[in-house]
Amino acid sequence: MTKSDVKNSFHQMHSAPETTPLRILIVGGGTAGWMTAAALSRVLPPRVAQIRLVESEAIGTVGVGEATVPHIRFFNQRLGFDEADFMAKTQATFKLGIEFRNWGRVGDAYLHPFGAFGQNLIGVPFHQHWVRAHRAGRAGGIEHWSLPILAARAGKFAHPDPDLASPLSTYSYAYQFDATLYAAYLRAYAEARSVQRTEGRIVDVRQNGESGFVETVTLENGEHVAADLFVDCSGFRGLLIEQTLQAGYEEWSHWLPCDRAWAAPCPTAGPVTPYTRATAHTAGWFWRIPLQHRVGNGHVYSSRFTGDEQARADLLAQLESEPAAEPKQLRFVTGKRRRQWSKNVVSIGLASGFLEPLESTSIHLIQLAIGYLIDYLPDRGFDPMNETEFNRIMALEYERVRDFLILHYHATQRDDSPFWDYCRTMEIPDSLAYRMELFRERGVVAQYREGMFLDASWLAVFFGQNVLPQRYDPASDRLAEHELADRMDRIRGDYAAAVQTLPSHDAFLQQIGARGAAAR
Ligand SMILES: Cc1cc2nc3c(=O)[nH]c(=O)nc-3n(C[C@H](O)[C@H](O)[C@H](O)COP(=O)(O)OP(=O)(O)OC[C@H]3O[C@@H](n4cnc5c(N)ncnc54)[C@H](O)[C@@H]3O)c2cc1C
Repeated sequence: MTKSDVKNSFHQMHSAPETTPLRILIVGGGTAGWMTAAALSRVLPPRVAQIRLVESEAIGTVGVGEATVPHIRFFNQRLGFDEADFMAKTQATFKLGIEFRNWGRVGDAYLHPFGAFGQNLIGVPFHQHWVRAHRAGRAGGIEHWSLPILAARAGKFAHPDPDLASPLSTYSYAYQFDATLYAAYLRAYAEARSVQRTEGRIVDVRQNGESGFVETVTLENGEHVAADLFVDCSGFRGLLIEQTLQAGYEEWSHWLPCDRAWAAPCPTAGPVTPYTRATAHTAGWFWRIPLQHRVGNGHVYSSRFTGDEQARADLLAQLESEPAAEPKQLRFVTGKRRRQWSKNVVSIGLASGFLEPLESTSIHLIQLAIGYLIDYLPDRGFDPMNETEFNRIMALEYERVRDFLILHYHATQRDDSPFWDYCRTMEIPDSLAYRMELFRERGVVAQYREGMFLDASWLAVFFGQNVLPQRYDPASDRLAEHELADRMDRIRGDYAAAVQTLPSHDAFLQQIGARGAAAR
């Protein structure tokens, strides 16, 4: 298991069970609520915890989280999901990465792949050799040394080869799915494991007069629901964490100025591509997420730099087919709660903060929070150390994702609109400035314990947006020029040949029985 496998699967509860089960109330039944319910019901038997979830159909869910990162596979595996069944029931497709269009300059296109570039040669990271060859004018784009990029561009997919000697072992993958169907899939799982679901709107919250701990929530029908631990998955409103406990919000919109989105699905025109697309526009960007039965589209934009009607018209103008529904508008404030866990309330999902979906990270942040909640699950004593550590780690995870997102906006050469002028010239967090300076100096990506994006992701965006280091690792010079050229050519040839052997994405979905009913 790799470091991220460990970090991103959720762990067995290690504290000794108490005699009376801990009463856990999950507030909200969106992706966050049902992921939490499914995971907790998987690791906490009923004698340890009684889990109940309250949701309100009248309020509804956001339901647009459709693209994910590879860690979701560990989550699903931990729950014991059968991949083909899960994919068929959620209309899911495979995802090898994200294509970014027009981010560095208008007309540029690069892919952030789920996989490494090339192979280390003489113990030196491949990209250092590539920079050397590129500077000498002897290398094509680095995408030729990425199996997932080549496969994505060719519309091909198969599971990675477990034989580590094969070029087909050099990538990972995620899914694109219908978020509403995923929540329903998780719900069936959780309810089968004793999670009690209550339909109803919470209209009041009662706190202990002394400690301020939440004691009960009151439903519209007058029922008071008591619990020991409350998990706030109530979405942007943060019913318990903010409206009741006033945890405070750290806003980051000066670095990530987009604050609204229009979303609209349309029918699929042509084969289903195994990757998400993010196309930069004059005051934001468009997403395109291909599912089996439809394509999810959206326009994320900054209301400081464009109007709502213009943004809506821009989205509709670039759809590949007629919209299948009226565009839906969403508003958000980028940032996170100052305390994501406060007293006996732990917030997860949109209730805990929001980072735009540019790198499909929201569901992953939900997964991380669930994992850390299980790691630091309190008993009725609520030792504050659990809260402190959870908040420390989650703050770092959010900040690392934030920096990676800001990089996409800031490392641009675009000067064709006031929005891009702002992003190109804005002050950036010190933590990101440090990373960019280190990379520019010697092509090294700074490594930290927390943070989901590893070297290959940062390299993809740096290179894709024309940020190149001033020099390469001199250890590369131990290989003579012709030797380096031969070895790079061989890897490139092996990758190109390996991709030829893969089936098309559509054929592979069919082959493993992952086709959903509407898409067969
Ligand atoms: C424009 C946009 C695009 C996105 N794209 C992606 C993406 O591609 N990938 C990704 O990973 N994430 C994406 N996300 C994020 C993703 O949608 C969310 O992280 C995910 O849906 C989780 O939402 P949630 O469950 O926290 O909240 P919600 O879906 O809002 O659910 C809130 C729940 O709380 C309940 N509730 C609220 N108040 C009450 C009350 N008073 N009483 C009872 N129940 C109540 C509601 O009924 C609902 O069940 C996107 C988000 C936006 C805004």
